[in-house]
Amino acid sequence: MTHRILILGGTTEARQLAGKLAARASVTLSLAGRTESPIAQGVPVRTGGFGGADGLAAYLRKKHIDLLIDATHPYAAQISANAAQAARVAGVPILALRRPGWEPVEGDRWTLVDTSGDAVQALGPAPRRVFLALGRQEVAVFEAAPQHHYLIRSVDPVEPRLAVPDAEYLLARGPFRQAEEHALLEKHRIDVVVSKNSGGEATYGKIAAARALGIEVVMVRRPTLPDVPAAETVEALTLMVDHFVRPVDERGV
Ligand code: NAP
Repeated sequence: MTHRILILGGTTEARQLAGKLAARASVTLSLAGRTESPIAQGVPVRTGGFGGADGLAAYLRKKHIDLLIDATHPYAAQISANAAQAARVAGVPILALRRPGWEPVEGDRWTLVDTSGDAVQALGPAPRRVFLALGRQEVAVFEAAPQHHYLIRSVDPVEPRLAVPDAEYLLARGPFRQAEEHALLEKHRIDVVVSKNSGGEATYGKIAAARALGIEVVMVRRPTLPDVPAAETVEALTLMVDHFVRPVDERGV
């Protein structure tokens, strides 16, 4: 019997996982549709919201999904909550890929805040040169502090642009290496970086570069995610899925 797996994606790991699982099951990858030209995913893709937890539960039933995998970004808290609830309602098992967050190390100057709104406050009243390495949805709140210079990097253009007098925009898609990030921070004379604690290698370069340059990082803490069975890496999650899809006699247990 071919198992049907739905992966909620939008991350590099989700794409890698889909590639690995495609040989074992019928895999569909779901994207929110935020990025205008997402990179090729290598498996069938469906795009757009489901209409909340109920909509996702209905989709799981209609498509006879046997296993739901939440491999969304650690800050995509709404879809993760919906996934846990939909799995419960539809009676479908769920696994999550939860990339561990970064931990501060010697030399880091992190200021921890709960939301991007709190990050605005943490910048303080005096004008600063700020690198916003946040999603385009989160940068709008920085209009509340128009005294700063902003360098804003995003995958797709920030539209509308921020109603602040001094902002520069950079379009780029990671991974971003430390040496390039170091050069970027120096070139723009950045004195504070605002970041999420995304974890992983692809976007750690700016954190390491800020440490090397003695620059403060205002770090937005991770949201609370539902408690579901989870693995930290693609490899570990693949093993969990193997346990699920392979018949007992093949596993030798
Ligand atoms: P979110 O706030 O948790 O989700 C908002 C709504 O978007 C969800 O309720 C759902 O709509 C829809 N949605 C989100 N992910 C989806 C998916 N994989 N497939 C289908 N619908 C999805 O999510 P977000 O923070 O806007 O993130 C959107 C996407 O970007 C996610 O796929 C995430 O993995 C990726 N991403 C997010 C970040 C980040 O920092 N937040 C960074 C990198 C990548 P319905 O309720 O209508 O189903």
